[in-house]
Amino acid sequence: MKVFTTVTSLQEALKDVQDKGFTVGFVPTMGALHYGHLSLVAKAGSMTDIVVVSIFVNPTQFTDKNDLTNYPRTLESDLKLLSSVRCDYVFSPSVEEMYPVEDTRKFDFGYLETVMEGEFRPGHFNGVAQVVSKLFAIILPQKAFFGLKDFQQLAVIRKMVRQMGLPVEIVPCDIVREGDGLAMSSRNKLLLPEYRNCASIIYQTLKEAKELTTTKSLQFIKDFVVNRINANGLLKVEYFEIVDENSLMPSKNFNEPGAKVGCIAVFAGKVRLIDNIIFDIN
Ligand code: AMP
Repeated sequence: MKVFTTVTSLQEALKDVQDKGFTVGFVPTMGALHYGHLSLVAKAGSMTDIVVVSIFVNPTQFTDKNDLTNYPRTLESDLKLLSSVRCDYVFSPSVEEMYPVEDTRKFDFGYLETVMEGEFRPGHFNGVAQVVSKLFAIILPQKAFFGLKDFQQLAVIRKMVRQMGLPVEIVPCDIVREGDGLAMSSRNKLLLPEYRNCASIIYQTLKEAKELTTTKSLQFIKDFVVNRINANGLLKVEYFEIVDENSLMPSKNFNEPGAKVGCIAVFAGKVRLIDNIIFDIN
């Protein structure tokens, strides 16, 4: 495993492998790695010849300065974890290396960026698109791997790839969870013990909601999820939406064609957690 901090050194190494006709798989991350990230790296390893993982806490996608400051940075243990799977190249640039000049590009993802994460973190997806498009341009991967945990992000990235006509295949990867069901997240490290203990209620409630889809209305399930989680006292739902898996338009009932996804954001104290569940009913 080789670690690169500059664009030119990474590109030199990649040119060599790309000239030889090897395929490159890319996993963008913000570090503080866990087994969710590693599952993406392992999938990349099973589908491509050379695996590149980026570790970069991207300032342009943070809408809250404190969140950016507090975001965990654990490069040494990240590298240790990555050496336990097949990861060929790690790209860990500084902010100046990634943004030698300010990135002023404005993307337009229409409806996709106005709901849910887009509504509560305005500008977030523009920052995500800035950094991911830049990383794609630097690395030129054939395939890029993204977690379904960030369901809306995946939809935005797919749209960006189509809008820009990029020659990269986006590969979705299943959500990896802790033993009690909590979706693995770098932010889980920030949870105080009392919040960590009750955070498993989020996925438990989503699973219960999925069981109710055969007997209850969509509105009933929305209320059920919000009330059940808020009743805990320590958790506060920011939004819970049931949306079409492709358009992310809110669903009115379960009889509409296409799979629905229940997407949720919850505050556990100051820590914001997101999760989702696919209601695959039709
Ligand atoms: P992040 O470092 O949080 O930006 O995440 C980097 C990538 O890992 C994104 O594509 C995430 O969707 C994915 N990811 C994060 N947590 C998980 C998880 N628990 N299971 C699967 N993928 C995940």
